[in-house]
This record gives sequence, C-alpha cells and structure tokens, in this order.
Amino acid sequence: MKENFSSIDRLYGKDVAAEERKEILSMYKKNFEDQVNHEAFQELLMQEREKTKEEIELIVFCNEKINALRGKYGLEPFTIPESNFHIVPMEKWKEGMDYEKSNTAAFFSNSLQGVAAMEIDNPLAFAKGAYHELIHFHGYQALMVAEREGRKLKDYDYRFGMGMFKERGEEGQFYFENMNEALTEELAKRFIENEYASENPHPLLQKGIQTIRNLQEEAKEKVSGSDLEKSITNPELYYALLHGRIGIDEDLTLGNQYFFSYKKQRSILNTLIDTLYEHNKENCEGREAIFDMFVKAHFTGNIYELGKMIDRSFGKGTFRKIGELDENIEEQEQFIKSL
Ligand SMILES: [Zn+2]
Repeated sequence: MKENFSSIDRLYGKDVAAEERKEILSMYKKNFEDQVNHEAFQELLMQEREKTKEEIELIVFCNEKINALRGKYGLEPFTIPESNFHIVPMEKWKEGMDYEKSNTAAFFSNSLQGVAAMEIDNPLAFAKGAYHELIHFHGYQALMVAEREGRKLKDYDYRFGMGMFKERGEEGQFYFENMNEALTEELAKRFIENEYASENPHPLLQKGIQTIRNLQEEAKEKVSGSDLEKSITNPELYYALLHGRIGIDEDLTLGNQYFFSYKKQRSILNTLIDTLYEHNKENCEGREAIFDMFVKAHFTGNIYELGKMIDRSFGKGTFRKIGELDENIEEQEQFIKSL
C-alpha cells in the first residue's frame, strides 16, 4: 500500500499497458514530491503563507497518531510532509473559495497530493481540521482508467476511503461519500475528545483547550442558563463557543454552529453502527468492534467484510442500497432508521 510514493494505493483498468500505468502513477509521485511546480494549483499556492512552527508540529503530531491507526490494520506508515500542507490566510481563503456558499475550511485533493486549509488561530481547532484532511490523505485510494463512449478516460478517482465512484448513466455516481465524510469526522472527533479528556494532552492542544475554558467563562454572561448548562455537559457545545471566536459564527450563538462538521452524516453512521450492533450482539465483541470495521475499510479499502455483515443482518442488497441513496441524504437517513 502506498508503495507508489503518493497517496494512491492502486490503479484499476482493463488493458492498461505497463508503460501507461507507470506514467500515471509517476505523475502522482511527482506531485507528491514537488508541490511548488504543480501547474493546476499555482493560484492556490500563491495565496498560501508560511506555516508557523506550531502548525508544523501539529501536522507531525496528527501524522503520528494516524500512522498508529494504520499500524493497527497492518499498514505501513505513510508520512505526509508538511510541504504538502498549505495554509491560506482567512481573508484570501474567503475570497478564493466563495466561502459563504461552500462553507469549507479545508480540503484534500489527490491530484494535488496536498491539503489546503484556511488559517485558524486556535491550535485545537487547527489540529481538528488537519487531522480530518490527513485521514482522507491516509485513506485507501484507487484510480481507474476506463473507456467511455469510445473516449479513453485517463484516470479518475475510483476509491477514496469508504467512498467510491461507479459507472451509472452518463455521469456516474458517488457511493458512500456521506459515510466517508462521517467516518473521517468521527475519527477527528475522537482524536480531539481523547486529547480533551487526557491528563497529559499535547502542550499546544492544552493551550487551545484553555482558550475554550476561558471562552466558557466569558460566555456565562452572554448566554442563558440552560444553554450554558448544555455547553458544560456537551463537548460539542464547548467547541461551538470556540467557533464563534474564530469568526465563523460571529455572534457566539450556542448550538448554531458546531465545531464538528457533517453532523447529519455522522448521525446516520452512528445509527447504522448501533443497529448493526443490536443485530450481531452475540457474535461480536461490542459496538466498538463494529466501528472498527468501518475504520479498517477506510484504510485498507476492503469493504467486502463490512458489506457482507450488513447484508447478512438486513437482507441481500442492503449495502448497495445504502450506497445508492447517497444522492438523497434524507432518504438515506430514513432507510437506515427503518433497518
Ligand atoms: Zn472531508
């Protein structure tokens, strides 16, 4: 895995000559190694600012944590250099990204072989975003070379973590993209909550945690009793306070903006895990073992075991149906609740 010196694990495609295979993979390798000369991203790269020492330290820390996870599934470490991580000042990011509409604070691009993120001044919030994007970067990735309507499509994203692209109609369709984001953010949430609960968090994250605690003190005067109570018992609301401070939700509206994104997607994933656990209580080691199967699928690309378990529990074709419903998240949610 990742032996091609980029984030790509595999290249699929019938009748792909060895020479062509080599050419495609070496292009990704080149982009992984040399970000500066990547033509398609010149504009973005021109916007980036130099990373601070603290940001670099946190990127290294996230890499280490994720490599420990990879190790659990027998995978080699894959270390993403800090040079593949680009930070753009908030104002420039908002201009360039059509921020109000996209509401995205960071992204991973496998053709860039890099991550771009809006600057965030709180180390805890920065680490949360960095960890999420690096989980994508570390996840299983496969490309496809295919022929469509007589036209040879060079290479396209065929697999990305839990997600996949399938030929369907003219355009094709993404399957399990909701689950892919849900799982990625759920892992980031666990990472932050572990640090938050730890007696000995990373010193930079400790600083971020302290900021949140101070904000909470400040908020006592600004929010009503019941909201404040909720913010003390619910870590997501702690972070909502922090979000207010970093300018995403300016008026510190509690519960309006959550620190952790993909809330609906995560709720669907957690419902599916709960229901799967209920169905398989006798022959599995606990809810965590089910969650683990999703994480394993993300890193190894092997979704067969998980698909089989879902179909065995709820009937043949269920796994496929969940994937197909990705286009309509409301329907997907209803379907999973009905299992
Ligand atoms: Zn994501």
